[in-house]
Amino acid sequence: MSEFLPFTRPSIDEETIADVANVLRSGWITSGPKVQAFEAALSERCGGRVVRAFNSGTATLEVALRLAKVGPGDTVITTPMTWVATANVILEVGATPVFVDVDPVTRNIDLNKLEAAITPTTKAIIPVDLAGLPVDRDRLYAIAGKHKLRVIEDAAQSFGASWNGKPIGSTGDFISFSFHANKNLTTTEGGALVLPADVDPGLCERLRLQGVKRFPDGGMDVDVLGGKFNLTDVAAAIGLGQLNRIDEFTARRRELARHYFAHLDPALGLGLPVADFSNCNWHMFQVLLSTGTDRGQVIAALKEKGIGTGVHYPALHLFSLYRQRGFKEGDFPESERIGASTLTLPLFPAMTNHDVERVCSAIAAILRHP
Ligand SMILES: *Cc1c(COP(=O)(O)O)cnc(C)c1O
Repeated sequence: MSEFLPFTRPSIDEETIADVANVLRSGWITSGPKVQAFEAALSERCGGRVVRAFNSGTATLEVALRLAKVGPGDTVITTPMTWVATANVILEVGATPVFVDVDPVTRNIDLNKLEAAITPTTKAIIPVDLAGLPVDRDRLYAIAGKHKLRVIEDAAQSFGASWNGKPIGSTGDFISFSFHANKNLTTTEGGALVLPADVDPGLCERLRLQGVKRFPDGGMDVDVLGGKFNLTDVAAAIGLGQLNRIDEFTARRRELARHYFAHLDPALGLGLPVADFSNCNWHMFQVLLSTGTDRGQVIAALKEKGIGTGVHYPALHLFSLYRQRGFKEGDFPESERIGASTLTLPLFPAMTNHDVERVCSAIAAILRHP
């Protein structure tokens, strides 16, 4: 049998590994010159906007909410079809999440339903680019502008993607990236926040690290409650190495996605993602199994054939924490249907076209003879 094919695997080159060793030998291993260089390189990719690096994409979202002055009494609109962090941060700052169901085609927040969910307590919207497919930024910002709402783009999965030729992060309000191990660009764990022009980068830095403000005479003050969210130079060195290759990674992911479309048998009745090869960065390739298919059995049978898969994600309003807050089955039918039937197939830059073909024939064999 061929080697086990995981659903994702980071590509870290020898040059990057050597640079990490340099940082480790340098005597300065936490936030320092590498983080500054990483922030500058990220800023360059984001149209020169101010970017600050963090130790996770969850911390970036939380700090963005604080910078947007979202707190108790406010509601924030988001999607139930996302990693749970997107909604958890809303609770973390004391605000209330309001979910809007997803569009069955894009699997992203349904912009046709967004306006109806806006109330006088709505302060912000957190759209999510699931699998790296960008939410329609033109429509999103038209709605946000009309209702004077802040937007915190959860672009955790869409680094390297673009909206009509503009890189995600180069336009818009707050843009939050994650550099978790599974993301298209990784720092092992990490994140970055692109700041809008009306936000003080100094306040962002204080919210990132214990609220500390340092003075030239060596003194310091703390005027705001900050977290412990700084990125290390070790992690930033990995990020710099990844940034050199992100366009190559995105191009390869798009080729592999095209290969899936060419080799998945339409007769299997799988729900396919939107075939977007210009905006989407193909963070994941997700199919929906047809009704009645036992997903657990398919996952086990693929594993048996040496193929790893993932489930991203069960609809999050059905997790206990959210059920306790009154959410229930039937609230968001599209998200529930997708959450119950979605399957993430292997897709990462180091995969071969033959790997894709192997996955496609394994799925065909399993679904035809369960
Ligand atoms: C990964 C992810 C996050 C959280 O990022 P971490 O770096 O793991 O904290 C948030 N939202 C979405 C959509 C993600 O995929």
